[in-house]
Amino acid sequence: MASLVIESDWILPVESPAIRGGFLVVHSGRIAHFGTDLPDRYGSWPRVRLTGGAILPGLINSHCHLEFSDIESPLIASEPSAAKSTNGGASMVRWLGKVMARRQALIHSGQDLERIKKDATLRGIREAWSTATRLVVDNVTAPWSADWLEEALGGFFANERSDLIDALVCGEPILVRPCVELVDVNQARGHQTWSYAQDLISRNADGKSTGVYQGPIGLAPHAPYTASKPLVARALETTIHPAGLISMHLAESLEELEWIEQRAGPMEDWIRPWIDTQHELEIGTIDEHLRLLSGSHRALIAHGNYLSDYQIKWMANYRDRMAVVYCPRTHKHFQHAKYPANQLAASKVPLFLGTDSRASNPDLSVFEEWKTACRLFPELGPEYWMAACTFRPSAFLGLESSVGTLRVGSRSVLTWVPLGQASVVTQEALWEAMLGAKEAIPLEMFHSLRTFPAR
Ligand SMILES: [Zn+2]
Repeated sequence: MASLVIESDWILPVESPAIRGGFLVVHSGRIAHFGTDLPDRYGSWPRVRLTGGAILPGLINSHCHLEFSDIESPLIASEPSAAKSTNGGASMVRWLGKVMARRQALIHSGQDLERIKKDATLRGIREAWSTATRLVVDNVTAPWSADWLEEALGGFFANERSDLIDALVCGEPILVRPCVELVDVNQARGHQTWSYAQDLISRNADGKSTGVYQGPIGLAPHAPYTASKPLVARALETTIHPAGLISMHLAESLEELEWIEQRAGPMEDWIRPWIDTQHELEIGTIDEHLRLLSGSHRALIAHGNYLSDYQIKWMANYRDRMAVVYCPRTHKHFQHAKYPANQLAASKVPLFLGTDSRASNPDLSVFEEWKTACRLFPELGPEYWMAACTFRPSAFLGLESSVGTLRVGSRSVLTWVPLGQASVVTQEALWEAMLGAKEAIPLEMFHSLRTFPAR
């Protein structure tokens, strides 16, 4: 049973005030105590002193597609397009075309698609963990396997495990919550994605989590232009149970709105060849999908860039089950209109942070998303945005004892933010210094934990 006392310049639980010069006591991967004092009973436990940084809860990425983690730099959305772009030269349709072309090229290259997807997923998990992410809500498509997630464990710590790391991390250093993508642009696609989702659900019939895999399987009707109302309704029926989760891209681009509301705009040329009459008859508006999702156990709305003031106010009635995930750097990539963060915050609609994928984002660091959101919406404050990627999504998903919290009894999968040489003496200065920090790393990877001898 490994135990450890960590003295740190700063301990920042986020949901309570920062502690300067505090003690954090961990025992077999759980937090036993934290505060300005160290109770006598821990006096003889191994102790390390960490300087020049702050300890925070682990970070949560509420929207990602790990399968694209082998893309080195984001696919360009803003080249001149034959299709008329509706916002500032960036086109979601152009970008979607590139994502699909990339996938088609992989399929036709004769390479082992399963191997490529597996490697990309493992690379994404390692990247997420190395930037202090402890939970990823991941949209998955066929082929995919829960077994891949366990293989990711081999990439952690290398041969650097020590008693100190063991005291902090018992079990998995990162968790993945998969949501299977559903698309029914035509009957064949609908059947294919639905039966694949059913297959994965039946393999995890008890809904249990094992290792990195965080069960039960969630469902991800892709978007209103690819998932019909009946498909969303079926997904809701399947996930209406404790721990059920739906994730859906909604109100992401003007092109999407133009298509689903008027059957017009650049999306038409792109999607028309794929869809059948049945699908077209059942395309839902944003209002209709919001109404459907309000009947979910838990629904994550990815992006919501173009949710109206009225829709946001309406959603406030369902804040126990509907949340919106803002992906700040992906939002910038597509040059969307100003994000409705202030309206969402004012209506107290749960707002979380996500990275989306490396197809629209340079990396998978939630900490960088936090910094970007803080810069773009300073009026909401750094605490608000840090809550959006720690204890708030954790509470929404019912995972407070596992990830995203720094509380007595919760798992000690925590974050270390190096603050350099600057002397930080107030809580305000601490947030300011964090905004200038270069990175966030898993606490167990802080070099002092590997080099300091236990007392
Ligand atoms: Zn996405």
